[in-house]
Amino acid sequence: MAASPANAANAPVCVRASRASVLLPLPLDVAYDYRVPEGMDVAPGHFVEVPLGGRAVIGVVWEGAGDPAVAEARLRPIARRLDAPAMTAPLRRLVEWVAAYTLAPRGSVLRMAMSVPEALEPPRPRTGLIAAGTPPPRLTPARARVLALAADGVPREAMDLAREAAVGPAVVRGLLQAGALAGVPLPARVPFRAPDAGHAAPALSPDQQSAADGLAAKVGARTFSVTLLDGVTGAGKTEVYFAAVAAALAAGRQALVLLPEIALGTQWLERFVARFGTEPAPWNSELTMATRRHVWRAVAEGRAPVVVGARSALFLPFPDLGLIVVDEEHDASYKQEEGVIYHARDMAVVRARLAACPAVLVSATPSLETVANVQDGRYALCHLPDRHGGASLPAVTVLDMRREGPPDRRHWLAPRLIAAVEAALAGGEQAMLFLNRRGYAPLTLCRHCGHRFACPNCTAWLVEHRLTSRLQCHHCGFAMPLPEACPACGTAGRLAPCGPGVERLAEEAAARWPRARLAVMASDTIENPRAAADLVRRMAAREIDLLIGTQIVAKGHHFPWLTLVGVVDADLGLAGGDLRAAERTYQLLHQVAGRAGRAERPGRVLLQTYVPEHPVLLALASGDRDRFVAEELEERRRHAMPPFGRLAALIVSGVGEERVRRAAQALARAAPVEEGVQVLGPAPAPLALLRGRARWRLLMKAPRGANVQRLLRAWLERVKVPAAVRVQVDVDPYSFL
Ligand code: ADP
Ligand code: ZN
Repeated sequence: MAASPANAANAPVCVRASRASVLLPLPLDVAYDYRVPEGMDVAPGHFVEVPLGGRAVIGVVWEGAGDPAVAEARLRPIARRLDAPAMTAPLRRLVEWVAAYTLAPRGSVLRMAMSVPEALEPPRPRTGLIAAGTPPPRLTPARARVLALAADGVPREAMDLAREAAVGPAVVRGLLQAGALAGVPLPARVPFRAPDAGHAAPALSPDQQSAADGLAAKVGARTFSVTLLDGVTGAGKTEVYFAAVAAALAAGRQALVLLPEIALGTQWLERFVARFGTEPAPWNSELTMATRRHVWRAVAEGRAPVVVGARSALFLPFPDLGLIVVDEEHDASYKQEEGVIYHARDMAVVRARLAACPAVLVSATPSLETVANVQDGRYALCHLPDRHGGASLPAVTVLDMRREGPPDRRHWLAPRLIAAVEAALAGGEQAMLFLNRRGYAPLTLCRHCGHRFACPNCTAWLVEHRLTSRLQCHHCGFAMPLPEACPACGTAGRLAPCGPGVERLAEEAAARWPRARLAVMASDTIENPRAAADLVRRMAAREIDLLIGTQIVAKGHHFPWLTLVGVVDADLGLAGGDLRAAERTYQLLHQVAGRAGRAERPGRVLLQTYVPEHPVLLALASGDRDRFVAEELEERRRHAMPPFGRLAALIVSGVGEERVRRAAQALARAAPVEEGVQVLGPAPAPLALLRGRARWRLLMKAPRGANVQRLLRAWLERVKVPAAVRVQVDVDPYSFL
């Protein structure tokens, strides 16, 4: 096949028509008809501005004739066509596909595909702001921060200046008006440099080479395929998929690498730069608006050859996608739980199919869904058996806390774990203690009357954060100062923290090892990506002896001197026992364990548990992942649970328990009656109250081949739910809270 002129194929064909359907980025499923004014050419994919009620909205011309019942004379005209690359047909099909699958309105999905409306206008000349020397008439602390920042003489756009100084845009505007800041023209942003496929390709081991060749061949085939790249942590999976990225670059096509947001750190970027000589285009929630606009536009114009991003990067307007990589494909953060509820790994496969390119799913602990797809022959398998450079996998020891726990209930480290930390520190090596709990203590209790501090808006205990001396809800953000006296009985000085969080563990460690250099890494002790990067750098430079962290430490980091990992509470994820509790705990602990001994020095992992006989702990201790996966799959098969059956949840919520319960019961009465389909509930959700809203759940279980969407659609049509009650549809649920 000749090199396909993908851009030309994507270019919309203009036909002179008098009316056009326009889909708007609003929670609407239908496209509205508009009149095409004389002299304007539009075709599906074009971005257009149209009137809606009293305002102007930007939408996309969609295929479909619209509603002929509306007389042409009554249609309002399209106001203008925007000077932006048209939305490609594969992306329009993705919007429709995701909407149909998740039951979200098409407009809500379209909104994700046009998340930067500013990028649809041609880039304006940019103005930077610098200090003008004149002091402002009134110097507030916010103004002082802006001027201190501007003092370095580097011109910044107003939005970036406000953001970096942590002030509102009005503060910057005020300073400009007062003459304390002055505008200077900025050069247009430089496009992304093309990564160089051959910049510094490492010599691959024979296993890595054959894996890389296999993936490169798939990229060259220019057809849809899905491959699982499976291999232990440290096997060189990143190097191998870099080879696939290089193949896409060599073919002149774009590549997208998806990573969990938390893993999008500097270490990954540094490796990319080392390999390709330049940075990829980034896409994540931390970007400034100016950068988003720049990246979005560069992607649409085919000037961003490689994008690395979080799940929302899936909806970027690539004109010529040649490869999608989903790293850590098992990671739960790929499931978006708000708004349009979708799974980015699954939708990445859909996008690859629509773009006719390969998808590569990467993991040391693949999801059972993916494993089942490999076993059924739908996905290909590419396996790296060993760690690179002969590094061995860490030895895992399970500590039975029933027999060898700490001597009292105010300490959390078992004697054997303490001894192991001491041995590592004495040997000049680094150690890490893992506890997946933020804050100081997960519960505060009055020792006099037994009162427990709960969130007023959620079914959740308040977590004590001693660094900020507050009690905090991890669901809604509610916070209050820790009082002296119990609010229930008035007794002072009897409030007691129960259980450990990372802050409390750090307290124990500091008391025990006063000379060790300690650091805590949790999402609320790390203020921004720069702070996270700094901590990772200090760890890599051996400026830290003992790192204590939540799951944020589990991701992707490579610390050659880290030889000991202690998991303080291996049972934490097993409680609650939803469908994937065992799978998720296994994946997380395996990943944490994989941080140890990634270089010459062998690693050790100690797991503290009260259930050493649990299959997850047996599997971690024996290292027999495949057996664990086989047993889990068998269990799921026996109960016709995913991936051998289908689930869909309805979450009914609103203010007022009574009306929510009634709506849930009405839904239950209208539940589908069909062979093999079962509806569980209605029942109050485990999080029965969230942000002040009462919540009930229903769960539909259907055979694997069932058309879940058809069942759900018909079900929802049978019930009239009051406007004050919201029904969220979650197809393939991962959260059961
Ligand atoms: P994984 O992604 O499977 O966990 P990585 O790709 O992170 O593994 O590799 C682990 C470490 O080994 C990294 O520091 C990486 O740079 C190094 N490495 C892997 N393969 C090679 C190779 N062929 N040549 C040199 N270094 C390699
Ligand atoms: Zn709350």
